[in-house]
Amino acid sequence: MTGLVTRFAPSPTGLLHLGHAYAAGCAFGAAKEAGGTCLLRIEDIDETRCRPEFEAAIAKDLRWLGFDWPEPVRRQSDHLAGYTRALDRLIEDGLVYRCFKTRREVADAIASAPHEAGEVYTGAPLPGAEERSLLDGGQPYAWRLSLKAARARLGANYDALGFTVEALEPPHEAQTVKARPKLFGDVVIARKDAGTSYHLASVHDDALQGVTHIIRGVDLAGSAHIHRLLQALLGYSPVIYRHHGLLTGPDGKRYAKRDRAVTLQALREAGHTPDDIGALISQHIAQGHILRHEDMHG
Ligand code: GLU
Repeated sequence: MTGLVTRFAPSPTGLLHLGHAYAAGCAFGAAKEAGGTCLLRIEDIDETRCRPEFEAAIAKDLRWLGFDWPEPVRRQSDHLAGYTRALDRLIEDGLVYRCFKTRREVADAIASAPHEAGEVYTGAPLPGAEERSLLDGGQPYAWRLSLKAARARLGANYDALGFTVEALEPPHEAQTVKARPKLFGDVVIARKDAGTSYHLASVHDDALQGVTHIIRGVDLAGSAHIHRLLQALLGYSPVIYRHHGLLTGPDGKRYAKRDRAVTLQALREAGHTPDDIGALISQHIAQGHILRHEDMHG
């Protein structure tokens, strides 16, 4: 594959809705515009919420909209060993630590931290003996990325990390954004229940699949700060980001999987054509039913 490579990476936790149709149009449209490729990737590491019937519905809806993609489609649940290997590298390099805290304990730690630490969690590895006894007791744990260790590892490069964000619309004006992983604190890299995380699986797959451009919603714009750091720590190439807005209902709230009336399946069954979907999306944009700045992290 040469030129622009992007991907549409839904999680099969429900039916796709009008907002997804717009998101898919942004990604597949960018590939078409550039003569590049848009991959489909199924992000199903959350085994409790993902279902095969939603995965099948995703392919059906996207084909109905007229998109196509190279096969085979990468399904993250088929590649858990790859994420474990990436995690092992971070473990060997001392860049992650075990966190045994419950959600409640993490929330309490954030609340009692000095104000300048922000609303994020920053921790440290437990002393050896304490950790040993928790492990012996079978306590579950997550792996968290240590920003302190990351900074020590990268030295001056840590502060020099940046990434390119391009405008969604042609001519895709580019700007460089300084990576500020501190906005997220010590994020979970491997969840207690999943052995990996969105951050690790996504960064790993984007590198492995040769993704050059990530085109996704403004709700995920902030993730680039942490993803850029992970790329640097794992020796992966940086990518270029574009962010699209999120379609909303008349109430100004972004569409969610529970909004049955705007699922592509419901719209199709009500007799709408793919062209109607395009028209509905344009109408939303023209009427301002789109959130363009959901990103809180700049
Ligand atoms: N799987 C994510 C979602 O459905 C998208 C992740 C991404 O594009 O990086 O929201």
